[in-house]
Amino acid sequence: MAEKPRVAIFDFTGCEGCELNQLNFEDQLLDILAHVDIVEWREAMDDRAAEYDIAFVEGSLSTPDCITRINDIRRRTKVLVALGACAVQGGINGMKNTQAIEEVREEVYGEDKYLFPTLPALALHEVVKVDYNVRGCPMTQIEFLKLFTSLVMGKQPIEPDHAVCVDCKLKENECVYERGMICLGPVTRAGCDAQCPSVGQYCTGCRGLVTNPNLSGMEEILVEHGLSVDEAWKRLELYNANDLEGAR
Ligand code: SF4
Ligand code: SF4
Ligand code: SF4
Repeated sequence: MAEKPRVAIFDFTGCEGCELNQLNFEDQLLDILAHVDIVEWREAMDDRAAEYDIAFVEGSLSTPDCITRINDIRRRTKVLVALGACAVQGGINGMKNTQAIEEVREEVYGEDKYLFPTLPALALHEVVKVDYNVRGCPMTQIEFLKLFTSLVMGKQPIEPDHAVCVDCKLKENECVYERGMICLGPVTRAGCDAQCPSVGQYCTGCRGLVTNPNLSGMEEILVEHGLSVDEAWKRLELYNANDLEGAR
C-alpha cells in the first residue's frame, strides 16, 4: 500500500475559524484521518515535521515574519493549499490596506506601535505559488472535502468560476433583492451552494470575485438599491480589497 500523504496545517493572520471548521467535520473527520498522516498542526498537536506533501495554510500575510515563514513552508511542501478568504484573497484583513498604514498601527497599538512591525495584508498567492484554493469565510466545508478527496485520489481538483447567482437560481431561491436586501451574488464566485441566499440572507462576497466581474454593473445595482457609490465599493471591498485595488 502506498504511503499516506503527509499533511501539515498552518495559520497566519486570521481568526482560526477555518481551522476550527476542519475540526468540525464530525462524520468525516475519522475518514479524513484514515487517508493521511497529519504531521504538523499547531492547533491540535505538538509534533513538527521537516517536509510535507500537502500544506493547508490559513490566514493572510501581514508581518515580515509571515513572509519568512510562508517562504519556508513553500520550500518544504509539494502542494500548497490556501484555506479561506484571508489566505485566498486577503479577505477581511485587506480592509487594513484601504487605510494609511501608520494610522492603522497607531489606532491598534498606540505608542507601542514600533514593537509591532506590520505590512499590508497580503493573500498567499501575492508572495508564493499557491496550488489550490478553498474559499469562503470560514472556508466552505464541502469544497474542502472535494479538494481533499481529489488530492488523495491523485485527481485534478476543479475550482468553480461562475457566479453565486447561477447556483442560487438553480435552487429556485427567491432573490433577496425582491425583499429589499442587497446581495453580491452577481460578482461572487460560486462553490458554497449559494449558502446564504438559500437561508434568506444576502451574499457578502466571502468567496472572492469571479474572473472578469462586471463591477460597473454591480455598482449600478447597488446604487439603484440605495447605497452611495462609496458605500457600494466598501461593500465590495469587505472581502476583496486586494483584488479591487485601483478598480474604482
Ligand atoms: S477566512 Fe474568515 S474564518 Fe477563515 S481565518 Fe479568515 S476571518 Fe477567520
Ligand atoms: S439572492 Fe443574491 S445570489 Fe441569489 S439571485 Fe439574488 S442576487 Fe443572485
Ligand atoms: S453566499 Fe456569498 S457570503 Fe455566503 S458563503 Fe457563499 S460566497 Fe460566502
